Amino acid sequence: MSYGSRAIVNLKNLQHNLSRVRELSPDSKILAMIKSDGYGHGFVHILNALDAADGFGVASIDEAMRLKEAGAKKPILIMRGFSDVAELELIAKHGFLAVIHDHSQLEILENIKLANAITVWLKVDTGMHRLGFMPDELKDVHEFLRANTNIKTVACLLSHFSDADSCEKVKTGEQLTQFNEVDIACPKSFANSAGIICWPAAHFDWVRPGIMLYGVTPISDKVGADYNLKPVMTLKSKLIAVKNITAGGCVGYGEKWRCPNDMRIGVVAIGYGDGYPRHAENGTPVLVNNISCPLVGRVSMDMLTVDLTNNPMAKVNDEVILWGEDLPVEIIAKCADTITYELLCQLTGRVRFTYV
Ligand SMILES: *Cc1c(COP(=O)(O)O)cnc(C)c1O
Repeated sequence: MSYGSRAIVNLKNLQHNLSRVRELSPDSKILAMIKSDGYGHGFVHILNALDAADGFGVASIDEAMRLKEAGAKKPILIMRGFSDVAELELIAKHGFLAVIHDHSQLEILENIKLANAITVWLKVDTGMHRLGFMPDELKDVHEFLRANTNIKTVACLLSHFSDADSCEKVKTGEQLTQFNEVDIACPKSFANSAGIICWPAAHFDWVRPGIMLYGVTPISDKVGADYNLKPVMTLKSKLIAVKNITAGGCVGYGEKWRCPNDMRIGVVAIGYGDGYPRHAENGTPVLVNNISCPLVGRVSMDMLTVDLTNNPMAKVNDEVILWGEDLPVEIIAKCADTITYELLCQLTGRVRFTYV
């Protein structure tokens, strides 16, 4: 093993998680959300492994183009739609689906004659207050789209939850009520992963799983395994130095860790330059030869340090797991005061990816 950080991506687990989505929402079609390079797992491999999905969701035209180049055959929905004529023309040219969420898009549609009419999803703002028309505007917008010759069909009405990360949130129920009051005859879509897991009443015609496909749960204080989801990515590195430090010595930058007694410290070849979170606190678990060892000291760009007191056999070149199958990324996110989504998306080009 001659290199440092590696991400092993288990495509079987990805397919298992997709089948979990099918089990949980058997009457819905699945729009697999693979924006941001498949949540950091790599577009091309993710796309091929998710062959059984009914369509794919991405954020931007750029991402849609990359999927098409990778050979995508299923419908690709662009969640941000378009914001100028050039983007709209590309969408029409390539047959992408676009989300319509803002009046500025209607103006563009009014003043253009596309060679190929496009299929759109219409977004309603039920309380997230990010993208989407207000419920009371919707009937007019829908009428406008149906009459506009650039639009082939309004294929779906969608909305998005703002805090579905618990199965009891009042706000989620209120958003759902708002959505159900919309009186437009067309297929509907609401549920992200949290909605799929916690809110069967939000499943409708299309579900939009993202994070759960990667084996990770968005529900606070739970891990993927609690819902029979299997982690897709395992992030690994190795020990490159082992040393004994006497009591009182400080490890790493800024004296963030002072050894309370004589300690065996291991240096691991991964840091924030690879995407491991710099804010991971003292005590964040790291697996060295499958034994959990606490992180000590500040994470630096190329390295981090662990306490090997309970792992006396550990030696240079031994395997280290930062998150993955035996160490849920949900735990690391909590220790770093962030969310799993960010950790998965922020791995850098320094990490080598392997697909199994
Ligand atoms: C990213 C995204 C999803 C998927 O969310 P997860 O929490 O990852 O399941 C669903 N819908 C929209 C509009 C999104 O942007």
